[in-house]
Amino acid sequence: MAELDPETLKRQMTNWRRDLHAHPEFGFEEKRTAAFVAAKLREFGLDDVAEGVGGTGVVGTLKRGTGNRAIALRADMDALRISEQSSAPYRSRNTGVMHACGHDGHTAMLLGAAKLLAGEGGFDGTVRFIFQPAEEWGRGALAMIDDGLMQRFPFDEIFGLHNMPGLPVGHFETRAGPVMSAEDNFEIVLRGFGGHAARPHSGNETLVAACALVTNLQTIVSRRLSPADIAVVSVTELITDGTRNALPGLARILGDTRSFRPEVSAEIERQMRTIAEGTAAAYNIAAEVNYTREFVPLHNDAELVEAAFAAAKKIFDPGNVAVAREPMTASEDFARFLDHVPGCFVFLGNGEASAPLHNSSYDFNDDGLVFGASFYAAIARQRLGI
Ligand SMILES: [Zn+2]
Ligand SMILES: [Zn+2]
Repeated sequence: MAELDPETLKRQMTNWRRDLHAHPEFGFEEKRTAAFVAAKLREFGLDDVAEGVGGTGVVGTLKRGTGNRAIALRADMDALRISEQSSAPYRSRNTGVMHACGHDGHTAMLLGAAKLLAGEGGFDGTVRFIFQPAEEWGRGALAMIDDGLMQRFPFDEIFGLHNMPGLPVGHFETRAGPVMSAEDNFEIVLRGFGGHAARPHSGNETLVAACALVTNLQTIVSRRLSPADIAVVSVTELITDGTRNALPGLARILGDTRSFRPEVSAEIERQMRTIAEGTAAAYNIAAEVNYTREFVPLHNDAELVEAAFAAAKKIFDPGNVAVAREPMTASEDFARFLDHVPGCFVFLGNGEASAPLHNSSYDFNDDGLVFGASFYAAIARQRLGI
């Protein structure tokens, strides 16, 4: 089949990727992207293409043979509210929104895999192509699951991937067990009584208490969690209603925590409440803690990791297929699917010169497209062997 030679497929995927890059859409607003994906899947001759799953999600289904096993391959479609710094002809045409995480590349790679598998088969069973919305919010996977994904499009296991800046193109990494962390967010509101900057003793201002609290929060990881547990507590914002000559009566401390086990997440919250209340009491002000859980931790299934390495060694130079040294304290919405079926999430190099993810100069490296599409196809064929 001449149209599926790697050079042609690479050129097509590059065109799709750059089209998606030029038209980035924020989470749950991926209307054009979803329509683009669904049109391509229909063009490839999939057995079923469902749109509007969990908002803007798309699920393509491809069946071959008589096998009753099903495997899911997943990509994410959403972009970020970042203004792109680029002179590329395919730079974002949607002001203030850009594909700064490479989800344009992930979508193009999964479309490439759909084209390969629809054209050449080589498996016995069902492949589900899942294009999820709103990964960056940690909401898109749940939206699809809540919309009946597992009942309407059942599958036994799932694979996903993410590009990785710093790792050379053509390199592949993953690991068994914990891979990516939970993300929790917090907001601590301190309420006192503002007043004249010249007379702090006559009011009950909140800024000094807030500074003490920011420092005290550092003891959660260093003095309250086991050194064997990986966790991060980051205060990212401190906002008050003070001004040049007026002490604040209100302070808000916001931040983000990362962990790999629900027990650790629960302990961070418990310690945060204790420290916030204790510190506030010491300064005779009130503290209110709002703690929310955004992403769950991602744990790879050991057997499927072995399968992924075996498939990767057929696509990548075996010397470039490696066990990731340590879990990452970034988070991934893919983890939500793993509450229902075992799965494996892998990383593909985006090049050593790549700008970091979520940077305004980031761009997906098109040289990685064929690796990703070929890996998806290889793992599907391996898991649904004839
Ligand atoms: Zn991202
Ligand atoms: Zn991403």
